[in-house]
This record gives sequence, structure tokens and C-alpha cells, in this order.
Amino acid sequence: EHDGLTGLYTIQKFSQCVKRNMENNQDTKFTFIRLDIERFKMINNFYGVEAGDRLLVYISGLIETYWQDVENCVFGRIDGDVFGICFPKDEKKLNGFILYIKRELKKYKAAYYLETAMGIYDILDNNLDVRNIIARATLAAKQCKGQYMIHEARYTEELRAKIIREQNIINEMEHALETGEFVVYFQPKYELDHCRPSGAEALVRWKKADGTIVSPGDFIPVFESNGFIIRLDYYVWDQVCQFIKNNLAHRGDSEVISVNVSRVNLYNPDFLESLVNLVEKYKIPPKYLNLELTESAFSDDARMMQNAVDYLHKAGFTILMDDFGSGYSSFGMLQNYNFDIMKIDMSFVRQIETNTKTRSIIRFIIEMAHTMDIKIIAEGAETKEQVEFLRDNGCDYIQGYYFYKPMPEEEFVKLLDAGR
Ligand code: C2E
Ligand code: CA
Ligand code: CA
Repeated sequence: EHDGLTGLYTIQKFSQCVKRNMENNQDTKFTFIRLDIERFKMINNFYGVEAGDRLLVYISGLIETYWQDVENCVFGRIDGDVFGICFPKDEKKLNGFILYIKRELKKYKAAYYLETAMGIYDILDNNLDVRNIIARATLAAKQCKGQYMIHEARYTEELRAKIIREQNIINEMEHALETGEFVVYFQPKYELDHCRPSGAEALVRWKKADGTIVSPGDFIPVFESNGFIIRLDYYVWDQVCQFIKNNLAHRGDSEVISVNVSRVNLYNPDFLESLVNLVEKYKIPPKYLNLELTESAFSDDARMMQNAVDYLHKAGFTILMDDFGSGYSSFGMLQNYNFDIMKIDMSFVRQIETNTKTRSIIRFIIEMAHTMDIKIIAEGAETKEQVEFLRDNGCDYIQGYYFYKPMPEEEFVKLLDAGR
């Protein structure tokens, strides 16, 4: 009935009590908290099981002290470092607990940094199975994992919908890749000097069997967290290589196409080789395929990134730094990496008309890049004012709706044919 270490209810007893309590108080709404210790395994491994046990006893003591006199409240140890508390819904009491835990953890003497994560679920149906209740609170708690500033999260309808959406994406992705549901769109870049389209960026779309088109913002983050992006990126590169090969075969020349390279690829040991093999397979000179690496990837793992960039350069590829200015750009980055083209992030271009500081920053970035022989592409220009400002200040290319939106291959080919 009681856990030997902490003296709290065991999971069986706890579940029984929660169930009975809710059934007997049908008119009362309950809230459930699932609390665990962040990186508890690490504490056990590095500081020993006794240190881990001591901490568990301390936390259970805090829970007991705070909740023992609250009417109709049940608490227990679910498993390992996971605790559960079920109490009649009371926001004040809940917020008080969050503050109390923070305060008391600070007092705890430990050699390591100590945090807890709480998943909070307002139980809507008093007859819901306790296992389901715990599962929902666990899903909520997952939202705080690895988030430095977030220590509690709620299970909401939005979260539930988001999890279902993500699960559907995961269920469908393999089939979608096999049946060609991922299609490549092209967004032409506009060369300001010569007033003409010049090259394009390949952007993936998910065209469902029912005709709906899903944008990458909805599925790329999911694929980046489960690793599927490595296969999708490769698929897009392959499609783009075929496109370039066709152009070369028919006209003896091709537009330069840039593809996105997810940061996840840097952790894929086959990444560099697979890319080089790909252009060899289609026998296309690598100068036709440009690679866009997002700025934030450069700060992930500097050494690894530098090696990758150097290797790709030697192999003949042109490297673009995507989203420049969106993250924590640093001048060190500019001095350590040999990339060829910089894409100014859309968030700057957006503010050209309204923010004088932004205008100064853009002018400065362009000038600085040019002294280093780096070309500049401005992303997301939508208005005449933005385009004129960029042109007047020496920007080399614009990729934005003002000139072109991303378009299917046929349309892109038509545009190119019309230009010739
Ligand atoms: P990105 O690489 O920064 O691509 C530019 C995004 O800005 C594209 O969105 C493009 O449609 C949009 N854009 C361009 N000009 C304008 C404009 O004037 N106004 C507005 N509002 N938007 C503009 P998209 O196609 O939805 O792609 C979003 C992001 O998804 C991309 O951002 C990229 O990070 C990622 N992505 C797309 N395709 C791939 C892919 O094949 N592989 C990987 N790893 N990521 C991809
Ligand atoms: Ca890009
Ligand atoms: Ca970008």
C-alpha cells in the first residue's frame, strides 16, 4: 500500500483512491498533477543511488506537507521519480504549489542543478480511467522537457489536437514518400542588376491524395524531431538533380537551384557522401546545386559545421547561409565559415518601411558581405518600397512574393521559356 522509500501510496493504491474519490464526488471537478524530476537518471548515475533516494524522499516530503490537509486530495508515487497529485480543482492552490516547489527546491543542497517538470490536467470526466488521466498529464509534461524556462504545462484541447495531427503525419509519411505525394515547388530568385529571374529555391509541398496542399511549416518540424527529414531532404535533392539533368540534356544549360539542408543532416554520417554520390549519379556539375544551411545550424556544433562546409566546398557546391539574422548571428560565424551567399531573413525585410534601425542594419549587412565577396539575397520582399530600398543599397538578389511565389515545376519551366 505504501511505498517503502517515500512512505507515499504505491501506484496501485494511489490509482484506486483517485478513482474512488472521483466516483464518490461526481459534482466536484478534479485537477491532476504529474510531477517528475528533470534529468533524474543523470542524478542517479553521477551522484549515486543514495543521492537519488535522498532527493525522492525530500520531494515526497514537500508534496505531503503541501497537500496533506487539503480535503479530497490524493497523492502518491507513480513510478521512479514520478509523483501524482489529484485534488479538487483550485487554481490558487495549484499556483501556490508551483511557487512552493520552486522555493523549496532552492533550499535543497545539491551539487547539481535541480528542476521539476509538471504536467497538469483538468479532468473533465470523473469516470475517466486513471491510466488515461496519467497518460494525458504525461503528454502535457513532455512539453517542458528540455525547455530551460518552462517547468509546467497543461493538457489542453489544443495540445490534444496537435498531438493527433502530428501522429497522423507520422502515420502517413512513409506512404506519402513512396507514392510521390511530396512535390517540389520552385521560387525563382530575381537578379536586381540584370532585372531578370535567376535560379530558384526548391521548396517542398505535401500534396495529399485528396488534392489539399500542406506547407512545410506543418510537417518539417515533426520530421526534424523524428529524423524522417533526412529521407525527405534526400528525396527533394534527387528530384532537383533530375530537373537539372533534364535541363542540361535539352538545352546544354540549367538554372541554378538551391535546396534546403536540414540541420539534422549534420548528424547523419552519410550526409556528405550521399550528396556527392547524388550529383555523380546524375552526372551534373555541382555548381548547379546550391545548398542552403540555416543560420542557427551554424551555431549548433561549430567544428562539425566547419568540416561539412569545407568538404562541400571542395566538392564544388555553393553554400548559402539561410535566415541570416533570425537567430543569434555572430561575427565569429562570419569569420569562421566559408559560405558564398547570405540570405537576409524575412523578418528584416518586413520592417524596411517602418524601422530606420532595420534599414541601417540591412545597409550594413550588405556592405559587410560585399567586402568579403559574399553575395546577398533578401528574402520575403513583398512591396515596391522594399524592393527599391534593397536595389538602391546594392542587394544582389531578391526572393519574394513581389516578384514570384513558389510555383509548380511546369509553371517554372514556362516562365523560363518565356524569358528566352
Ligand atoms: P525558408 O528556407 O526560409 O524558405 C523561404 C520561405 O519563405 C518559403 O516558405 C517561401 O514560400 C516563403 N516566402 C518567400 N517569399 C515570401 C514573401 O514574399 N512573403 C512571404 N510571406 N513568404 C515568402 P515555405 O515554402 O512555406 O517553406 C517554409 C520553410 O520550410 C522553409 O523556409 C524551410 O526552412 C522549410 N523547407 C521547405 N522545403 C524544405 C525542404 O525540402 N527541406 C527542408 N529541410 N526544409 C524545407
Ligand atoms: Ca531556404
Ligand atoms: Ca530563409
